[in-house]
Amino acid sequence: MTDWISLIRDIPDYPKPGILFKDITPLLADPAAFTKVVDGLAAGYAFDKVVGIEARGFILAAPVAIRCAAGFVPVRKKGKLPAETLEASYDLEYGSATVEIHTDALAPGERVLIVDDVLATGGTAAATVDLVRRTGAQVVAVSFLMELSFLSGRERLPDLDVRSLVTV
Ligand code: IMP
Repeated sequence: MTDWISLIRDIPDYPKPGILFKDITPLLADPAAFTKVVDGLAAGYAFDKVVGIEARGFILAAPVAIRCAAGFVPVRKKGKLPAETLEASYDLEYGSATVEIHTDALAPGERVLIVDDVLATGGTAAATVDLVRRTGAQVVAVSFLMELSFLSGRERLPDLDVRSLVTV
């Protein structure tokens, strides 16, 4: 199989000048690499639900859920979920962002694996952890395809099992 890490490409100056964007679409297009990543994100954990973070987190979390006979729950940007929601906001470089989960998406005590593609500053993942905990469910682990360690996102996820399949 192709080395799956080499299938993640760098796109300079996207979405704005000075940002080096990690593009996972070539990896997703390779079935063996995609399968390996899906297996790696879930390996060793027992959980009832997989929470995927919009939008690339959905692409990874849904196959993890199917593979592990777990349910899938979306965390979305504000205004996208149709029923009653809980919301959590976090700071961006300029301004803030808000994510939401359906109030009834998780039951108290359910074991949850949170999945996203990239851990950068950790704001998105920390807000998602907050949402999951407010439903009464339990975060088993937070699993990423890639961690940008120079942004120290892990520090915003203290006392959690944080897994990254590749760290740069
Ligand atoms: P954070 O909140 O700063 O950790 O940003 C993480 C969110 O931004 C995730 O949902 C990622 O999908 C997205 N993200 C940040 N940097 C990148 C990147 O280089 N490639 C792909 N997604 C990224």
